[in-house]
Amino acid sequence: MNSIQNLFSLAGKTAIVTGANTGLGQGICVALAAAGAHVFGVARRSCEETLNKVNEVGGQFTEVIADLSDLSAIEKIMTEVKSKTERIDILVNNAGIIKRADAIDVTVAEWDQVIDLNQKLVFFLSQAVAKDWIADQKGGKIINICSMLSYQGGIRVPSYTTSKSGVAGLTRALANEWAIHNINVNAIAPGYMATNNTTQLRNDSNRNDAILERIPAGRWGTPEDMYGAAIFLASDASAYMNGFTIAVDGGWLAR
Ligand code: NAD
Repeated sequence: MNSIQNLFSLAGKTAIVTGANTGLGQGICVALAAAGAHVFGVARRSCEETLNKVNEVGGQFTEVIADLSDLSAIEKIMTEVKSKTERIDILVNNAGIIKRADAIDVTVAEWDQVIDLNQKLVFFLSQAVAKDWIADQKGGKIINICSMLSYQGGIRVPSYTTSKSGVAGLTRALANEWAIHNINVNAIAPGYMATNNTTQLRNDSNRNDAILERIPAGRWGTPEDMYGAAIFLASDASAYMNGFTIAVDGGWLAR
């Protein structure tokens, strides 16, 4: 491997990816494992499909079962991962939920569910990992998953828009504090991707057509579309990138 290819290698690294059993999280697990990382995938249920896909690319994958709706999951994850690896190098905060309702009808319970997982958990899991990184001064990589609704208001998803706009701000805030410790905090903003998150939209033919018509690339994104940005932000290639959100959106934001 030449030195430029080495820039993108994750050989010898350990990554935690939340929401590893489906969709974009599954794609990110496959990408990081294919680039050489041992990936610990966090999910509420078994990650058998992800494990099979990682095996196909000759990667290493270990599942960690945890429900991230409760902050107590953080200690469980940290203890379990640290019992199986010397050091965590990469954290991908991917797990997220969306609740669709007119703003006028949103309940406190729905609001809290979305903000707790998409925002509060992201902060405190990042803090837990960064404590180790600041202690050993060996640096690390945090990749948050933002959204087009980190930039735009969206329709009928006010808690989700609030959470993802917050994650974009949090990415900058943490990057500013931790860059000095060689910790890169960046984010990926996926556009409209064909996963469980968008099943309802894709099943509504009017919304589906309107969205497709607005995407310059003319198609929904896929988990595979996340590979390049995920490897880049997890690797030495992004060593001087701090607090930036990369859109992987088929041109949606450029429109
Ligand atoms: P998805 O629903 O397939 O993935 C969400 C993941 O989060 C799942 O693996 C789910 O099991 C996990 N999760 C949810 N609640 C959890 C909990 N309490 N504990 C542990 N895990 C939990 O959809 P996706 O599109 O792959 O979403 C991944 C991320 O990408 C989310 O943060 C989502 O908001 C974001 N995103 C998706 C799109 C899109 O168009 N699909 C666009 C922008 C951002």
